[in-house]
Amino acid sequence: LVELRGVDKHFGALHVLKDIDLTVSRGEVVVIIGPSGSGKSTLCRTINRLETIDSGSIVIDGRELPEEGRDLARLRAEVGMVFQSFNLFAHRTVLENVTLGPIKAKGMKKAEATARATELLERVGVGNQAAKLPAQLSGGQQQRVAIARALAMGPKVMLFDEPTSALDPEMINEVLDVMVGLARDGMTMLVVTHEMGFARRAAHRVVFMDAGEIVEQADPETFFTAPRSERARDFLSKIL
Ligand code: ATP
Ligand code: MG
Repeated sequence: LVELRGVDKHFGALHVLKDIDLTVSRGEVVVIIGPSGSGKSTLCRTINRLETIDSGSIVIDGRELPEEGRDLARLRAEVGMVFQSFNLFAHRTVLENVTLGPIKAKGMKKAEATARATELLERVGVGNQAAKLPAQLSGGQQQRVAIARALAMGPKVMLFDEPTSALDPEMINEVLDVMVGLARDGMTMLVVTHEMGFARRAAHRVVFMDAGEIVEQADPETFFTAPRSERARDFLSKIL
């Protein structure tokens, strides 16, 4: 469903993505881990063209990533993204946060968008918060609203970039539980996280990045118990 071939990216002199090949199949859950600065966020951002690439190709559901224009808007609808900071519209209610995208970008009727948003907010466990402003919610609740907002666009794949790392510990699991539920329902997911519990529960594959390269990838059990590379062993010894 998502196919990166020979993707290269520089920030000035910094070679931040080095010849990245990565395929995510339909329904697959891939967790990306690696040290700070290894290029994980940049990789996610290239997949929905928040960053351009220098060379290589990114194909989503059979179509090459467009550079700009209408097609880019369509692509953004197909690729949902959830960031570390929740990025909700502060002056809109929780419900409006979820309905605005479908109404504005997809031309959905307000009544339909509201019905779908209500369903999604229920699904992520914040159905009773719909009339509030984001600031009136806990961090965990806000992040679940952000997930509902991304899902409202009907994405084919969901990207998560450290969705729980800004949360207090007691809120991490409520967000991870929603993500595990999505994974079980068959959503295609690419997840940057250091939550090894999530990786063990939900990931089909763990991809380890270091210094802009994919160093190794394996199923979670194999990766965590028997990492092949010295770099992965060293990284795991620091976080586990
Ligand atoms: P972290 O775990 O800290 O989130 P990361 O693996 O997500 O790290 P990136 O954010 O992708 O790493 O950054 C990779 C490298 O690119 C870093 O050295 C970073 O400083 C650099 N970088 C990221 N964004 C930019 C930018 N817009 N301009 C210049 N350099 C950047
Ligand atoms: Mg990052």
